[in-house]
Amino acid sequence: MLYTMKDLLKVAKENQFAVPAFNICSYDMMKAIMEEVEAQNAPVILEIHPDEIAYLNDEFVAAAKDYAHNSKVPVVIHMDHGGSVKDVMRAIRNGYTSVMIDASTQTFEDNMSLTKEVVKLAHDVNVSVEAELGTIGNNGSAEGGSANIIYTDPNQAEEFVKETGIDTLAVAIGTAHGLYPKDMTPKLNIELLKELNERIDIPFVLHGGSGNPDSEVSEAVKYGVAKVNLSSDLKSVFFDALREVLTKNPKMYEPGDVFPEANDKVKEVVKHKLHVLNTIGKAELY
Ligand SMILES: [Zn+2]
Repeated sequence: MLYTMKDLLKVAKENQFAVPAFNICSYDMMKAIMEEVEAQNAPVILEIHPDEIAYLNDEFVAAAKDYAHNSKVPVVIHMDHGGSVKDVMRAIRNGYTSVMIDASTQTFEDNMSLTKEVVKLAHDVNVSVEAELGTIGNNGSAEGGSANIIYTDPNQAEEFVKETGIDTLAVAIGTAHGLYPKDMTPKLNIELLKELNERIDIPFVLHGGSGNPDSEVSEAVKYGVAKVNLSSDLKSVFFDALREVLTKNPKMYEPGDVFPEANDKVKEVVKHKLHVLNTIGKAELY
């Protein structure tokens, strides 16, 4: 079933679970993710970044839509970190049911005005909108982010949500894109999240969810986080496994031999994340 983000996350927030948004950069990864969420009867968000669609091409979205339509679990197809109206229109034309407009590095006023414009365009055709306030950190991921995390300001957030009419808000509470260096343990600002949750009704999104301690991510789900973005955790195990398989078997070339181990690694991570986010079995609520 194909869902909008608004309809998907309403149920998640009410029932205190979060839906993982997995960045998909290949057909094999999408296949592995869909097989595992179906096995766990869990809803899912298939998330595609503009850099990923630049590689995959628009035709890829048709395959994602086919998966969604034929699946027994709720699926949202979401554009991650759209940077312009052009990105948003391309996503809507391709059939995404949710888009993110990220103008978080612009001034508060400019962020608000671009987000408002996108909400008008997207809501007219029943597409949900995510925006961001504050900045997510960057650990060298292609998604970028700021060298210094600027935490979301609760006063600004309240005004921003009211004025723009967005469906979900990406909050900056201490996460960073990419994988954390070995000597760094990320720390989420749960007190800030609690305050945001008391003042704002719409579901929150946690970006850069890879590598954060499971206990902190589970805690965040109790205070309004209903979507957690996961990219590096999946890509790293997928490509590590491929590297290993091909190194061990230099003459191997049939896809049915090359990919299964990598797909299984992806499935393990998907299952673990569904467990952390309390998503297992939740498709039955839709
Ligand atoms: Zn992000």
